[in-house]
Amino acid sequence: MGKTVLAKFSKEQLRDFIAQNNEQKFRADQIFSWIWAKNAKSFDDMTDIKKEFREFLKENCEIIDVKIKKRQISKDSTVKYLVQFSDGLCAECVLMRFDNRSNLSMCVSTQVGCKMGCKFCATGKNGFKRNLLAYEIVSQILLAQIDTGLKITNVVFMGQGEPLDNYENVIQALELINKNLQISIRRITLSTSGIVDKIYDLSKQELVPTLAISLHAPNHKIRELIMPIEKKYDILSLKKALCDFCLATKDRVTIEYILISGLNDTKECAQELCEFLKDIKCNINLIPYNPVSDENNFKKPSKYDMMKFKYILEASGKKVTIRLERGADIDAACGQLAGKAD
Ligand code: SAH
Ligand code: SF4
Repeated sequence: MGKTVLAKFSKEQLRDFIAQNNEQKFRADQIFSWIWAKNAKSFDDMTDIKKEFREFLKENCEIIDVKIKKRQISKDSTVKYLVQFSDGLCAECVLMRFDNRSNLSMCVSTQVGCKMGCKFCATGKNGFKRNLLAYEIVSQILLAQIDTGLKITNVVFMGQGEPLDNYENVIQALELINKNLQISIRRITLSTSGIVDKIYDLSKQELVPTLAISLHAPNHKIRELIMPIEKKYDILSLKKALCDFCLATKDRVTIEYILISGLNDTKECAQELCEFLKDIKCNINLIPYNPVSDENNFKKPSKYDMMKFKYILEASGKKVTIRLERGADIDAACGQLAGKAD
């Protein structure tokens, strides 16, 4: 039999486990805090637990069974981890600071691979392997905390996979991040390619993260060219869902828009996008296309073209940012995560 993995337990389950092993229940709270708040690397770090019990824990338990298989550090200090789950499959997650504010953000994966097949993204290229469990999603954050000894302050569901295609596990993961890691739901952002039914479901949850939408086109015709999901949930049904989401949650959504030279970055596209977004309470995040090896020959626009696109949108009164490119030299930027072991 394998060792008992303590990070899989809720506080209540940990209390039961400790009681079954004839220790006082308050030990569970100490251990819980060592794991989730104090980044213990091993049971030896848990100095307020008496030695005999630590020995018992060492023999029979492990803190976490997800491992760091590889760590890469970018010139801009972005860190990419390749993590390996207990069945041997791997996924990537990325640690970074956004916009030079005092935060430490973790970008987590929700699936090994992705079914959505967006033309510009490396994740879908290797097909889909499986959904990650809630514990496996949260363990990416925990591992980074243990590895760095730092507290993660923000989480973005923007790694490999489509979070709303793994709905139940993602909802549970939100709860764990909020409860165990004590990260406010306001500091959690979930990005989706636009699974309309699930956007409605999400708006009714107790914990609703900030919603980011991978729109990437101002109309059906262009979106269909680059995102197969447009065939199932078209851009107009997505628009309706976003308006309803804003009404239900009283929140603003983020519109993500990858700029691909000559395809969706023209003046006409910018004007059409302004019109499309007119009724949606949103901020816009422009993402320069990050090259991934693809057969489509997509290119990043020039800085000048990006600026013109941004100005047209800003003139419509929306807040527009251009996403800083992070970790491109280690393939950690948006869309570059492929989860390859070598
Ligand atoms: N599956 C979700 C979340 C992960 S992708 C989604 O699609 O929203 C995170 C963001 O990176 C999305 O906005 C995605 O569209 C974008 N992205 C994917 N490939 C990219 C690329 N090559 N260059 C820039 N952004 C990319
Ligand atoms: Fe999947 Fe998102 Fe990549 Fe599309 S952009 S293939 S939904 S991970």
